[in-house]
Amino acid sequence: MNSHNRTYEITDDMKTALLSWYSVNKRELPWRETGDPYHVWLSEIMLQQTRVEAVREKFIEFTSELPDIPSLASCDDDRLMRLWEGMGYYSRVRNLKKCAAVLMDKYEGQLPEERDELIRLPGIGPYTAGAISAIAYGRPAAAVDGNVMRVLARLFGMEDDIRDAHTKQMMEEIIQHSYDSWAPDRDTVRDFTQAWMELGALVCVPNGPPHCSECPFEHVCTACLEQATDRIPYRSPLKQRRIIEKTVLIIRDGEHFLLHKRPATGLLAGLYEFPSVDAVLSVREALDEAERMGFEPLHIIRLPDSKHIFTHLEWHMRAYEIRTASPLTCAEDCILADKKDLAQRAIPNAFQKYKDYYSLRD
Ligand code: SF4
Repeated sequence: MNSHNRTYEITDDMKTALLSWYSVNKRELPWRETGDPYHVWLSEIMLQQTRVEAVREKFIEFTSELPDIPSLASCDDDRLMRLWEGMGYYSRVRNLKKCAAVLMDKYEGQLPEERDELIRLPGIGPYTAGAISAIAYGRPAAAVDGNVMRVLARLFGMEDDIRDAHTKQMMEEIIQHSYDSWAPDRDTVRDFTQAWMELGALVCVPNGPPHCSECPFEHVCTACLEQATDRIPYRSPLKQRRIIEKTVLIIRDGEHFLLHKRPATGLLAGLYEFPSVDAVLSVREALDEAERMGFEPLHIIRLPDSKHIFTHLEWHMRAYEIRTASPLTCAEDCILADKKDLAQRAIPNAFQKYKDYYSLRD
């Protein structure tokens, strides 16, 4: 059933129940302690594709190195990539820096308060804009992420596809309208916004059955009362990912490995990687490829295969280590890295298996 023509109301009782649940159950998270807009922004960007537990540590490390917007704006790219290493989705950190530069240039190093203004900044979409405005500044702005959508869909028994942009928009309107005849103070807005997210993360969970007996909406939630939590929220199937077969060439001499810099735009832009070709190469073809790159192979071994999944594609990787007869020299767009460099450099997660293979062995 499509819900576009129905109206949904977050009642006063629901608001009270949610807020009192949150006051007892909220987690202590480092970015919640300060309410600093920079911290709210950074944590929201980090949390976009990464689990809270992984973000917790990274957030502390990142903010101790780059404590504010000016330090982020002036951070050298290689250092920034190293600080982000392990998080994946590197376009997030590139956009953080780009946005910090705009803030320094046009906003005196501060994040603006209004959602409509935040949304125009690099890397800040509707959800993040709402989250910064509401959580950092206590402005009544909607911040609807996957957790919030799941709770709202179940609470109101909405069967619309939550991949559909209209569904998200409808949910933003529900939250926005809940402020219409309500004048909460800034702290209440902060709590109300985070309470939906927290309920979705801890109780109305994404994987496995929701913990309805612990939920403040247990007695009013449509999906719970109608035992429909296994089909709500409805999510249409994703299109199949494109599979790219690759061969990774780990070219090394006694001391150094060859790393190639990816192009400045596109997937994993500007990061260093082991050279690769988009084809499955035999041993003979891999040796030919190394020669074509200007190296004289001494011997070759096959390394374990590996696979990396991106949002829209998968890399299926075969890999060879090729030892060269003479010391490596640097080709265009390449650098030489010893084991220490290899351990410290921000090499994309896709190559983690091979990076570990060498970092962990003598
Ligand atoms: S009652 Fe259950 S299904 Fe409904 S919002 Fe709470 S946890 Fe989710």
